[in-house]
Amino acid sequence: MSEPNADVIQQLRDLLGEKGVRCDPNDVMPDIIVKPASTAEVSGVLKICNAAGQALVPLGGKTGLAGGHFATGDEIGLSLERMNAIEEIDEHNRTMTVQAGCILQVAVEAAEEKDLLFPLDFGARGSATVGGNLATNAGGNMVIRYGMTRDMVLGLEVVLADGTVITSLNKLLKNNTGYDLKHWFIGAEGTLGVITRAVLRLRPLPRSENTALLAVDTFSHVGDLLRWLDARTAGTLSSFEVMWPSYYEFITREGYQHTPPLPHGSGYYVLVETLGADPESDAARFEEVLGGALEEGLVMDAVICQSEKERNALWEIRDDVLELFNLGPIITYDISVTLDRMEAFVAEVQAQMDARRNPVCVIFGHLGDCNLHVILGASDAADFDYDELQGILYGTVKRFDGSVSAEHGIGVLKREQLPMSRSADELHLMMGMKNMLDPKNILNPNKIFTAEDVSAA
Ligand SMILES: Cc1cc2nc3c(=O)[nH]c(=O)nc-3n(C[C@H](O)[C@H](O)[C@H](O)COP(=O)(O)OP(=O)(O)OC[C@H]3O[C@@H](n4cnc5c(N)ncnc54)[C@H](O)[C@@H]3O)c2cc1C
Repeated sequence: MSEPNADVIQQLRDLLGEKGVRCDPNDVMPDIIVKPASTAEVSGVLKICNAAGQALVPLGGKTGLAGGHFATGDEIGLSLERMNAIEEIDEHNRTMTVQAGCILQVAVEAAEEKDLLFPLDFGARGSATVGGNLATNAGGNMVIRYGMTRDMVLGLEVVLADGTVITSLNKLLKNNTGYDLKHWFIGAEGTLGVITRAVLRLRPLPRSENTALLAVDTFSHVGDLLRWLDARTAGTLSSFEVMWPSYYEFITREGYQHTPPLPHGSGYYVLVETLGADPESDAARFEEVLGGALEEGLVMDAVICQSEKERNALWEIRDDVLELFNLGPIITYDISVTLDRMEAFVAEVQAQMDARRNPVCVIFGHLGDCNLHVILGASDAADFDYDELQGILYGTVKRFDGSVSAEHGIGVLKREQLPMSRSADELHLMMGMKNMLDPKNILNPNKIFTAEDVSAA
């Protein structure tokens, strides 16, 4: 296997010192990781690598689910872990200026200390970095209310492949002065530039949380329920998570660690949450709205949390996705389809899985965001056919005009499927941007597109 350019490594050592270059061939890839401590050092690293055509892979917490952080033997890792400071929390303007290597949970807790909310939350919060969240445009559990990471960013600092630093640490909510450059880099998975700092938009810290688990009989009632709650909770609905029985009944099965808050046997289980400003009146309103949904027949049964402990227990059921790996050999998918076609989409996937000998088909997701996580596999390894499962799932997504990646990005793992969700003209424009910003293709090559496709574009 080829290795990074030795002369480049020496130049990087000269620039960053011993602390800034880690070389460990026994560790997981990449063997060589540079750890700049400032934007100027990131710029210096990129200048050296660009001059030599040395490829780099930007690294955050390495929790990404699409393989965007994977590296080959001849690539160098560029870790932002030493750039982890929270530089400022501006309470007046409700912004946080943060370095890209800051762990998400640290940023969230720092905001909370100032009575403010950074509304990004998901299972990997303790390891993922703000830079990685930005580079993947992460979603999470509150997208229905606050949007994806893209919607939480006001300004960005990025270092381009040739070392040019673009500092655009805007704090203004409105700033329509030409192209909004930050959006080129958010969700670009480190292929267009290295994110070094960001200005994040903060919100008031909610004073009340109201959470319930609801049993719903039909999918059309699930859609009606979403609209019912949205229309009656004055913009405070922050989560609408749906578990199909295949998920809920497995995670709350007898003998496993979660007691089912609602009995098995319903069509769907919906975890809803509102975040508000007045604990007393918000709780009363929440109960009243759910009571109305029960009367309308949209909800068959409900458990409303009365304590933080009960709330955590509900979220633990929804978040216990790793337990699914005990079902057998499986593949996890993260897709989107519009709500009006979702029931038919699921029925079609299910029918194709039912036709197999030994199927595993489990579905749950951020339904308020039209985002489903679909788990396909077999309970017996002999019946696990990777290509067939890929064909079933992505073929159906394409027929339903869905997206092959709702929130996890493309990386290397979904590169082949990308053309199912993007037109040839869209892909050509994207590769043109890549060629313009990184003509030597040193930044995370072979992610999103193959190097051959980029050079041919
Ligand atoms: C248990 C679990 C639950 C999850 N749940 C959700 C969820 O509900 N919703 C959701 O959207 N996602 C979810 N994810 C995925 C999550 O969004 C990503 O794991 C996370 O955002 C990546 O952050 P990271 O720091 O680990 O980045 P890495 O994994 O290190 O990198 C991810 C990509 O970003 C690039 N990158 C990293 N840092 C930079 C930088 N500073 N500049 C430029 N490029 C950079 C890398 O090259 C790579 O392409 C989950 C992941 C796990 C493990």
